[in-house]
Amino acid sequence: MAMPNQEGLLVVLSGPSGAGKDTVLRELLRLDQNVMLSISATTRAPREGEEDGKDYFFLSKAEFIQMLSKNDMLEHAEYCGHYYGTPRGPVEEWQKKGRDVILEIEVQGGQQIRQSCPNAVSIFILPPSLKVLADRLRRRNTEEEDVVCQRLETAKQEILQAVHYDYIVINDDLAECVQEIKAILLAEKMKSARRSHMIQEVLENA
Ligand code: ADP
Ligand code: 5GP
Repeated sequence: MAMPNQEGLLVVLSGPSGAGKDTVLRELLRLDQNVMLSISATTRAPREGEEDGKDYFFLSKAEFIQMLSKNDMLEHAEYCGHYYGTPRGPVEEWQKKGRDVILEIEVQGGQQIRQSCPNAVSIFILPPSLKVLADRLRRRNTEEEDVVCQRLETAKQEILQAVHYDYIVINDDLAECVQEIKAILLAEKMKSARRSHMIQEVLENA
């Protein structure tokens, strides 16, 4: 049923580096045309093949701090020596248009969103084990070994934060993981708190 006056969901998706967040999101975006992915700003250098404005907005530290000072970030965090943040404007615009917006962010940012946006839905992606996580990170081959080790060390602290999220999904079988996230989004949209406006609409539509 179409619901033109229902605002889109704000969805936080977190999980340790290598858990498969990007992979899961690519598949979710392919299957669900209503989902938009927020493009973050970062001060880290682009990886090979990454494009400015598509994968991230790659900013200098000064540019990042300027955005922060103008209150243009919905949340931000420092992760493994670099700044990351969510530009506020597009997220609010898309939500108003009824699009579900996903923030793929680490746990400090997740905590900020849970506090500032109590209606946000938070999902934590867990790898099946730390060994699988390490294998995936090394096989991805996008970071030097010292950065991989730093990310694996950070992962242990991040995983402890999963308990604060609304949902935990394990990314073992990719298709299953994506279906589970789709199911979460569907159920969230049907929550009575998000649909209270429908009660009056039905009663008035004699
Ligand atoms: P993240 O965005 O969480 O850092 P990625 O999406 O880059 O993680 O995934 C890390 C690596 O693991 C990639 O090489 C990806 O192809 C692989 N991967 C992701 N999900 C799965 C899965 N369900 N099964 C096997 N490999 C996976
Ligand atoms: P990567 O360098 O691998 O692209 O991202 C490193 C970590 O930063 C990941 O856990 C990713 O989810 C997180 N991240 C990406 N964008 C943002 C953001 O806008 N805000 C926050 N808080 N974390 C982000």
